[in-house]
Amino acid sequence: MAQHLPPDAPVASLTDCAHIRMHLDAFVDGELTAFDGHDHPLTELVGAHVRVCEPCARLERQLQALRAALRALARREQTTACASDALRRRAAQILASR
Ligand SMILES: [Zn+2]
Repeated sequence: MAQHLPPDAPVASLTDCAHIRMHLDAFVDGELTAFDGHDHPLTELVGAHVRVCEPCARLERQLQALRAALRALARREQTTACASDALRRRAAQILASR
């Protein structure tokens, strides 16, 4: 990907917001890692960008809040599933003991 930037451009402008936001989701998910297990270069790039770009930082916080909400929801659904499984087993035991 060609970059046409002046050599004295600040780090934040090396990658524009649209490009950063394409990777923000994976960045928040901690999925921006290369296949060899090392941190993807984008991790540093996105991290540096959100430190200096307020709109992208706000988006990052929103994504993090959304992720936390999804995690909480998933946990609740898991708990419900476990509870109903236990209930089903208990019901089966009761039926079997009759
Ligand atoms: Zn930005």
